[in-house]
Amino acid sequence: MADAENTSFPLLEAAATCPVCGAGRPQPLHVYPNPKRRIARAERLILTGCPACGAAWSHPLPSAAEVDAWYAGAEGWEQRPGLRAQADGGDQAEAKLLRKLDAKRATRERETELLLPLLGDLRSSPRVLDFGCGIGAWLDSFAARGWATTGIEPGPTARAITARRHRALDAIPHEPEFDLVVVQHVFEHLRDPLAAARALATATRPGGWVFVSVPSLDRLPVHGKLGYAASGVHLFTYTAEGMTRMLALAGLRVTERLEDGGWEEGSQGPGVHLKLLARRDEVTLPVTGGDPLEPARSALEAWGRVRLAALEAASPLVAPRGLARLSRRRQAVHQSALTKRKRALREPLDLPLLEPPTACPCCAAGDMKPLHVLRNPHRRIAPVAHLVVTGCRRCGIVFAHPLPTPAQLDAFYAGEAQGWEDRLDEQDDQDAFMDRKHERYRRELELLGHALEGTGGTGRRVLDFGCGLGAWLDALGEAGWETEGLEPGAAQRAATAQRHRVVDAVSGAPRYDLIVLNHVLEHLRDPVATLRELRAAARPGARLYASSPNLGRLAEHGKLGYVVSGVHVMSFTAAGLRSVLGLAGWVAEGELDDPGWEALDARPGMRLRMVAVAGDPVTPPAGEHPLEPAENALRGHAAARSAAQGAGSSSTSSLRPRLRAFISESSRR
Ligand SMILES: [Zn+2]
Ligand SMILES: [Zn+2]
Repeated sequence: MADAENTSFPLLEAAATCPVCGAGRPQPLHVYPNPKRRIARAERLILTGCPACGAAWSHPLPSAAEVDAWYAGAEGWEQRPGLRAQADGGDQAEAKLLRKLDAKRATRERETELLLPLLGDLRSSPRVLDFGCGIGAWLDSFAARGWATTGIEPGPTARAITARRHRALDAIPHEPEFDLVVVQHVFEHLRDPLAAARALATATRPGGWVFVSVPSLDRLPVHGKLGYAASGVHLFTYTAEGMTRMLALAGLRVTERLEDGGWEEGSQGPGVHLKLLARRDEVTLPVTGGDPLEPARSALEAWGRVRLAALEAASPLVAPRGLARLSRRRQAVHQSALTKRKRALREPLDLPLLEPPTACPCCAAGDMKPLHVLRNPHRRIAPVAHLVVTGCRRCGIVFAHPLPTPAQLDAFYAGEAQGWEDRLDEQDDQDAFMDRKHERYRRELELLGHALEGTGGTGRRVLDFGCGLGAWLDALGEAGWETEGLEPGAAQRAATAQRHRVVDAVSGAPRYDLIVLNHVLEHLRDPVATLRELRAAARPGARLYASSPNLGRLAEHGKLGYVVSGVHVMSFTAAGLRSVLGLAGWVAEGELDDPGWEALDARPGMRLRMVAVAGDPVTPPAGEHPLEPAENALRGHAAARSAAQGAGSSSTSSLRPRLRAFISESSRR
C-alpha cells in the first residue's frame, strides 16, 4: 500500500496560479486517484481551490488540444463505453444517441416550464442558444413555443442530429443576439470556463438571461458523489459562491439559485446539481467579504465526516462464516459493505489538506507548501490517518503536519521508554548490543576529531541531549571529556546514571564545550526552542554535533518513512538544518559526508551530520530557496520509485487477493 502512494507526488507540482482569476497560491484541498485518465492524464489529481475567487478545479488541467480531442475526436466523448458498446460506426452511434431523445425531451420540457416564468416579459419570437446542446432535446421544447433556436455542440454525431432541426453553429457569435443562453453540464468540462462565460455574456442581449447547471460541490455532503463533482473529465467543480464570482467576472449577475419548486425533480438525486439563473447586467463583484473558498472547504469537511460515519457503520472486511448459506439479499448486503470498505481503504478517509498549518514551527513564516500526503497507519503519536509533509519556503524545514501536541509527545516517549526496557530484557546479550554502539560512537568521535579542535580548555565538558543508554557518553568519557546526559526515558536515564552525570534540565548558564544531538532533532515539535536552550548553555566557541535522517539524499537511500513519519516529525536537508541551527544562534560548518562517515551507514546518504559553532542567531534571508533541495529530493525519490516499479504497474495491496477470493467465493454460492 505504501508503495502505491510513494510513486506519485502530485503536490510537488501543484498549481501556481488560479486559472480563473490569475491569483497566486491556490490551495490544494484534496488529492484523489484518476484511474481512467480520460482527459487529464495524471495518475492523481489535486482538487485545488482559489482563496481569491473561490474557483475549484482538478490540477493538472489537460491541454486545450487534449480537451478538444476528447469532445470532438474519434476516441473521446461520443465513444464513451456506454455509447461504444453497440456502436461500430457512425450510424450505430447515432441510433444509440437517438434512442435517448424522447426521455431527454420529457426532462427538458419540465425545466422549460419552470424556467420561462422566471424570465419576465420577452419580445416576440425570442432567441435561445443552447451551449453544449447534445442532440438538441432542450432546443426542441423552445422551438415548440415559437423560439428561434441555436445550438453549439462539439460532438460530431450529436451536432449532425441537432442540425436537422435547429441552427447549429461551431462557435459563439460575437453579437449580442440571444434572449436566453442555456449552459447545461458544460462549465465543468471546460479548461477555460471564464473565457467561455465571457463569450456567452457577449452573445447575450443586455438584460438577457443565462441559465447554468453544473454538478454541485456545495451539496456534496447531501449527494456524496465527489467523483461526479470532480474528476479527470469534470475539470472544474463549483460552489454557488465560486460560480457567482466567475460569472461576475464575465459580466453576468446571478439573480437566483434554483433549488426549490421542482428544480430537483428528475435530477440524479437531491443536491447533485447547482442551478443558477444570471442576467447580463452591470455587475459589481459580490462583496460578501470573508473567504470565497469557505463553502468548498466546509462541503468537503462535512463530506469527510459523513464518509467516516458510513465507514464506521459498515460491516468489517472479514467475510462472515457460512456466507454461502445466507440469503441472496444478505449476501448482497455484505457484498456492498465490502465494496464500500474497499473503496474507502483505497482513498483517504480524512481530508488532511483542508487545514494547513498557519505558521512554520521553526521560523514562524506563513509561506509553506504541502509536499506530500503520507499515511500514518500506526498513529503512534498523532492520532490522524494522514499526515501532510509540509515544507517552509522561508527556512527550508520540512515537517509532518499536524505536529503532535506536547502532551502526545510526552505520553509517547514515556511508552517508548517502556518499550526500550522490554527490548533490553529480551536482549540475550546486552553487552554485545552496547559493544556495537560503543564501537560506532568511538569511530564517529574519531572522525569528528578535526571538527572539534579548539573546543574548550581544561575540563572540557559535553552534554549528550537525548543520551539514551549513554553509549555516546561512554565514548566521550574514554576520550577525556567530562560527561553529562539528559534523557526523558526513565529506564535509559537510570542506565546512563550508573556511569555518567545525568541532568533533568538544560543549564541556563554557559556550561558546555560540546553538545551532542544524536537523532534527536527529528523527534521534536519545536527544534529551534531546544537549540536556543542549548545555545544558552554553550561556552564561547562551543560546538554542536547533530545527526539526523537525511531528507536531502532521499533519492539515493529511498527510505521515505525514515526521513519523515508520525514519529520523525521534523525532516532535514542540509539547507533546512543550517537554517534551523542559525535561527537558534548556531553557525553551521560543512556537512560531514566524506567516505569515512558514509561507511558508518547501512545505505549511503541515510544520515545528515553537521557541526555548528556557538554564534549569533540568523534569520533566514528572504529571496533564497532553501526548500528546493527538499522538493528535488522528493522528485528524485518519486522518479526512482516509478522507474523501479515500471510505468503503469499498479502495485497490488495485500487487501486485494483476499477480497478477490471472498468475492469469487460468495458469487459461487
Ligand atoms: Zn481565482
Ligand atoms: Zn520556516
